[in-house]
Amino acid sequence: MVPKCGACGLYKLCQSPKMEVDGDGARGVMVVGEAPGETEDEEGRPFVGKAGGVLREALREAGINLNRDAWITNAVICRPPHNKTPDDEKIAYCRPNLLNAIKTYQPRVIVTLGRSALVSVLGRHWRDIGPLERWTGWRIPLAEHWVCPTYHPSYLSRMNNPLLDRIFRKDLKRAFALKSGPPAPVDLNQVEVLFDERKACEAIVEIHNEGGWVAVDYETNCLKPEYPKAAVHAFSISNGRRTVSFPWAGRMVELVGKFLRSPKTRKIASNLKFEERWTRRQFGHGVSNWGWDTMIATHCLDNRQGICSIKFQGLVRLGVPSYNEHIEPYLSSTKGHYNRIEEIEIGALLQYCGVDSLLEYKLARIQRREMGYED
Ligand code: URA
Repeated sequence: MVPKCGACGLYKLCQSPKMEVDGDGARGVMVVGEAPGETEDEEGRPFVGKAGGVLREALREAGINLNRDAWITNAVICRPPHNKTPDDEKIAYCRPNLLNAIKTYQPRVIVTLGRSALVSVLGRHWRDIGPLERWTGWRIPLAEHWVCPTYHPSYLSRMNNPLLDRIFRKDLKRAFALKSGPPAPVDLNQVEVLFDERKACEAIVEIHNEGGWVAVDYETNCLKPEYPKAAVHAFSISNGRRTVSFPWAGRMVELVGKFLRSPKTRKIASNLKFEERWTRRQFGHGVSNWGWDTMIATHCLDNRQGICSIKFQGLVRLGVPSYNEHIEPYLSSTKGHYNRIEEIEIGALLQYCGVDSLLEYKLARIQRREMGYED
């Protein structure tokens, strides 16, 4: 069933409506472009015009033959008049066609060329794609396949920039080099939301006594602990084996202070100055044995803008789709400095907090490996 196909009306305006997927897909890769151009519309096949030439040449250098090794299709499968870039609505109308193609061919890897293709493939998992620059080159383990965004060949022709050409070739090569499917997705159900004081305290003691790496995360009602009504609402810790999240109340609070002061575990945070400042304010001492900040590490590895949040890294590194859209509006600070954290249902807040520390832990381990540290 293709529920929205035809709603955009483009099929009435072109010579080759609803263009079929082309190529033999010998390497299990599906290449997704924006929409057929003039030549493609005349010939009834994707990527046979100028942009196709640029793409084929880049692949040929890496020993890849586009039609033999890939399946080829587009985010929008009818040519828009004057090659106008399709808007997000047209992309959404046509998305079921792409999803059908993915279901039929079961590619191991999906290469998206340009923004339209990325919006089509990732749009269901991430609301605001933003600039393409921050997405290129990642190999995103999204459920059954890798999603590998890169530039559109027409953009490269327009820019005539050797650096971008090099990035494009490298992205393509790395995408086609993926030999097996993505690893199993992170199980977010492993987060233990603990309201029971005794269970929470036992978990903190157990995680402390095991030693090793532990990610820590506060949820607070504002950014700065110095504000008069600044308050912590939730806290979570993860050592990969256990991830526990609990409300900021009762005996747990005092125990967290001791836990953070003890050097027995090596602490991980995302933007650790936040956890350090809140700890100082809460307990009058800092955190002992900081070992890793995932934000700093992200920027040491790659200094593009808009990539260092745990949410973005959780998607591109671990394939965890946006998990906080329902909560995000309540956590961003308003003009009066305070957010609306009290309005979030506490179970949902604790789950969210736990996911953060779980992903921080996993991300830290990946980053350390990538940077050549031995654990
Ligand atoms: N550009 C695209 O995005 N797709 C094609 O099929 C041809 C050019």
